[in-house]
Amino acid sequence: MTAETGLRTGTEQINSIRNKILYLKDKVSETAIKAGRNPEEIKIVAVSKTMPVEVIRLAYESGMIEFGENKVQELIEKIPCMPEDINWHMIGRLQRNKVRQIVGKTVLIHSLDSIELADEIQKRSELISIITEVLIQVNVSGEESKAGISPDYLNDLLDYTAGLGNIKMRGLMTIAPVNASTSETRHIFAKLKKLHVDIKHKKIDNIDIDILSMGMSNDFESAILEGSTMLRLGTAIFGSRS
Ligand SMILES: *Cc1c(COP(=O)(O)O)cnc(C)c1O
Repeated sequence: MTAETGLRTGTEQINSIRNKILYLKDKVSETAIKAGRNPEEIKIVAVSKTMPVEVIRLAYESGMIEFGENKVQELIEKIPCMPEDINWHMIGRLQRNKVRQIVGKTVLIHSLDSIELADEIQKRSELISIITEVLIQVNVSGEESKAGISPDYLNDLLDYTAGLGNIKMRGLMTIAPVNASTSETRHIFAKLKKLHVDIKHKKIDNIDIDILSMGMSNDFESAILEGSTMLRLGTAIFGSRS
């Protein structure tokens, strides 16, 4: 009886996650086409923060391969419990003293926001002879509570990282304010897109700026319409976090 109930719940849970992923993939394609874009240029990162590994595995079995976490401790605890072919993304604020723990374990760090952090990523990457791919997190909205650098310092940070041989700059990331209207959110995403286009034109050494990480569960359609190439979706896949 108990076992059966458990089994049924498990099946329901995987069906629910699988259905949400299928729905999201359709929605992403539909929105991309509406925007005149190729759906294949938009990747979904499943944001698995706070979710237990059993639940993350259901998303993996439903075809997700990119997963994002926002805390170093949680990330390094989950990595050994999950299949090796998962691509892990560090999407949260990264403290310098924790860089050592994740360098070499992520495909992409979304949250570079200072020269000091770039120096530490460079140092730790050089020590283990790898190149770490990063995005610069930009605080487009100017909200004080938000992480990320001001757009005014973006060029300085880009020029600086261009001189660091073990860092590969891949693009930009932003988070829209939680309570912004759709038009405010679109405006913020449009600003990040414009910064992205501007820096692409600069053609700095060591830069292959092709990623624009913007759009979460409640604003990913706006993000696609404004040019996002990487969506970070948590709630829309896993349900709400307790
Ligand atoms: C939690 C988080 C997300 C996902 O948020 P949802 O609203 O659950 O989709 C995306 N990006 C970052 C940086 C996050 O911390």
